[in-house]
Amino acid sequence: KRLEELNVADTTCGYCAVGCRFDLYSDGEEILAARPTDEEDAPVNGISTCVKGKFGYDFINSDDRLTTPLVRDEHGEFREATWDEALTRVVEGLGGIRDEHGGEALSLIASSKATNEENYLMGKFARQVLGTNSVDNCNRLCHSSTVAGLAQTYGYGAASISTEDLELADCILLTGSNTTEAHPVLATRIKQNVRDGADLLVFDPREIQIAEYADQYSQIKPGYDAVWINGITRYIINNELYDEAFVRERVTGYEPEAAPDHEAADDREERVEKRETGFEAVREAVQEFTPERVEEVTGVPHEEIVSAAETIAEADACVFGWTLGLTEHSHGTENVLAMANLAAITGNLGKPGAGVSPFRGQNNVQGGGGDMGPLPDNFPGYQDIADDDVRAKFEEAWDCDISPEYGYYTTQMFLAADEGDIKGMYIIGENAALSEPGVNHAEAVLEDLDFLVVQDLFVNETAQYADVVLPACSFVEKTGTFTNTDRTVQMVNKVMEPKGDSRTDWEILQALANRMGRDWDYADTAEVMREVNSVTPLYGGITHERIKEHGGLQWPCPDEDHPGTERLYTETFNTDNGKANLQGVGYSEPAEIPDKEYPFSLTTGRVLYQYHTGTMTHREEGMMKYTPSDFVEIHPETADSLGVESGDLVALESRRGEIVVPSQVTDRVGPDNVFVPIHFAESAVNRLTDEEHLDPAAATPEYKVSAVQLRAA
Ligand code: SF4
Repeated sequence: KRLEELNVADTTCGYCAVGCRFDLYSDGEEILAARPTDEEDAPVNGISTCVKGKFGYDFINSDDRLTTPLVRDEHGEFREATWDEALTRVVEGLGGIRDEHGGEALSLIASSKATNEENYLMGKFARQVLGTNSVDNCNRLCHSSTVAGLAQTYGYGAASISTEDLELADCILLTGSNTTEAHPVLATRIKQNVRDGADLLVFDPREIQIAEYADQYSQIKPGYDAVWINGITRYIINNELYDEAFVRERVTGYEPEAAPDHEAADDREERVEKRETGFEAVREAVQEFTPERVEEVTGVPHEEIVSAAETIAEADACVFGWTLGLTEHSHGTENVLAMANLAAITGNLGKPGAGVSPFRGQNNVQGGGGDMGPLPDNFPGYQDIADDDVRAKFEEAWDCDISPEYGYYTTQMFLAADEGDIKGMYIIGENAALSEPGVNHAEAVLEDLDFLVVQDLFVNETAQYADVVLPACSFVEKTGTFTNTDRTVQMVNKVMEPKGDSRTDWEILQALANRMGRDWDYADTAEVMREVNSVTPLYGGITHERIKEHGGLQWPCPDEDHPGTERLYTETFNTDNGKANLQGVGYSEPAEIPDKEYPFSLTTGRVLYQYHTGTMTHREEGMMKYTPSDFVEIHPETADSLGVESGDLVALESRRGEIVVPSQVTDRVGPDNVFVPIHFAESAVNRLTDEEHLDPAAATPEYKVSAVQLRAA
């Protein structure tokens, strides 16, 4: 058929949080084409999309797509059920636990793939209908340490820049970000800027593809990020290369006249009180990180610390970009605090081409995973549930009592279930049985729950443990909004009717709420967004009508006259005193350090042709041709010592489990490190990762460092 004969909708990509916009064409049965939206209407991606946005739609019509609810029969097997029967089972299962043990015995994992409106309703459902604050999402597993670190320092836990700043920067520091594979369109924009003359500095344990474009690539030992960042900060401070005017005006605690001899070591320990705020606290804290010590700890030659510091200091505008290599650690928040310090002392905030840019992962983890407040400690717009005035507002709006006690974070839910404190879960659009750290433990928890309901497109690995599985819709079958990595809220528009008997997440939640004694009556997601507007100052002026008019709106956008906020912190920080409240960060190391028994450091990550636990991309024939399985990258020296070549099977064992994968012999990784992607159940790398050592501020697990041993399999 010709394109003009097809249904078409202008929508937002359902894969990653770059948030590319494109027109999707459908004959009503399947997606037949994707064309990037006109450049002026798609400022994020211009005229390009990556392979997933262009071709990744086979999963919608996959033979095993769920089109009807499933319930367990008397033999414990799944059988098809009507919506009435399935919803009745859910009401009995969740409602029964709530009535017997209290709502706190229930937890809900919301979906960063679902729309903002659906995530808002998930948070409301948890609190109003189930009576629990234990609602969280995959943000806990990736960037919650970013949110904690940036919010403590600047006030907002999000990117300060707009995507176009990646092309305006004179210098870009990237760390822990395999940008080419995880955020392809952002990588294209960065490379374009590098071709035009910008400096690119890449710090990463793997010599990833974007490192080929870098002026400097430094191979770091995983798990010591605060050390090398502090080393750069120290060099800049001690050589007076910081932005004195910016620091004096916009950073707390700048007292150069009163500052003692910071380089003197004798009484430093007394002077350095970790977490003390202000510029002088940072000056004190970084003194131990001499270039030589940084080299000793991180493996980065001291000359590279000096040259990176000088490049950053000389740049008029620098963007600091990172993904999960910085955050997925037992001290991820400290890493982010160190990065926030570096950006602030160099004055790289609130101006074109400068700022902090955590690249978010799933399509709507910024909006659905954070902004909309399916969080155990925050309501929508990061409003603290422990604040009496805030809580009273939501109690009135939602007509319910809400406990001021924080609920469990996702990672904590699984530990609490071990103790019998969580007895039932409702998991929407997340594959916890593969994505949680310590999968062997997660599986045991899911198996032991009194009741589990899973809402998804497929009977994924998590649904195997469910009592009821509810068939949900993909993003091409619904209307709502996603918020991308630079805080732009964009429309998601339906191009096809839901498959079979599947329903949108918001319709399922509404049906359940009404069966559990509430009176939800939303006609559509535009109406849900109007409720969001009324209780969430950050989104006060972001209506569907205005998004359509503007093509997208960036938060904060407090009212309908506000144009949205392209760049944060142009005038002031979102803190009580309006300044950046820096914190001194000391030495930290991974929770598990390689030793004789487990001598290698395992780090995990993504590849271009797969997406998360593969529920979508495994059903794409083309993608599977390029990356049909996980693998382990091992250094040639390691391969020699094991007697293996590329393609040979290698067994990896940690203190928690074992997997076997084919090897890829490459000097992308150092001789002490190995890398395995996260995408396949048969080699679930999270069998090796650690569920117990969590970041104390954000409860993020340490996916990026696990001690393992290797052998030829
Ligand atoms: Fe979709 Fe991300 Fe690819 Fe853009 S870069 S098309 S948002 S997966």
